[in-house]
Amino acid sequence: MSPASKKHFPSLFSFLLLTIGLICGTAHAQPQGHTADDTAATLANASLKEHEPFIRRCYQLAIDAGKKGNHPFGALLVHKGKIVLEAENTVLTDNDFTNHAEMNLIAEAARTLSRQIIPEATVYTSCAPCAMCTATLAMAGFTRIVYGVSHDALNKRFGLKGKSVSCPALFKTMGMELEFVGPVLEKEGLRVFDFWPEKDPHAQMLKKQARK
Ligand SMILES: [Zn+2]
Repeated sequence: MSPASKKHFPSLFSFLLLTIGLICGTAHAQPQGHTADDTAATLANASLKEHEPFIRRCYQLAIDAGKKGNHPFGALLVHKGKIVLEAENTVLTDNDFTNHAEMNLIAEAARTLSRQIIPEATVYTSCAPCAMCTATLAMAGFTRIVYGVSHDALNKRFGLKGKSVSCPALFKTMGMELEFVGPVLEKEGLRVFDFWPEKDPHAQMLKKQARK
């Protein structure tokens, strides 16, 4: 872990407090014996099923990042059903608080992929992206984000009192449309935070923040 706790604190603090709203699938049919809510939940779960293999891969990338001494977050890019790029958080090993998994993914996409692919591709991420990553994804031309763990669940996991900010609504007011899908396999995804490096100075700050 990087000892540069003061440098990294604002990014993590912002990351944990600036949360992303959720947009889930909806249903239109109502079979007999089910309430509308039951049906919506069933169909939403069915539609989320297709994302599970990619989200599970994000969780593995997040665990790998944690084992390397970074914050446990991972992201990947899918185009036409295939993974074309993968990225991990490298904030601490690179000593750069902007190196979130999504930011690393965006940079690699810019370096290696055709511009035509970006609007057609889907970004998968182990946790709902922070405001910095969401803004950069939008500006880079990505249009669809599927995430594993919601920020509300993340805040709850660390005992923080952060409030959700609806980034989809925010970007809509800016004329930038982003589709958010999730959470997917959230309970499973919360386990990746067990791989948060113990010596991370931010962990101590999070504990202090949680106690306030
Ligand atoms: Zn981020």
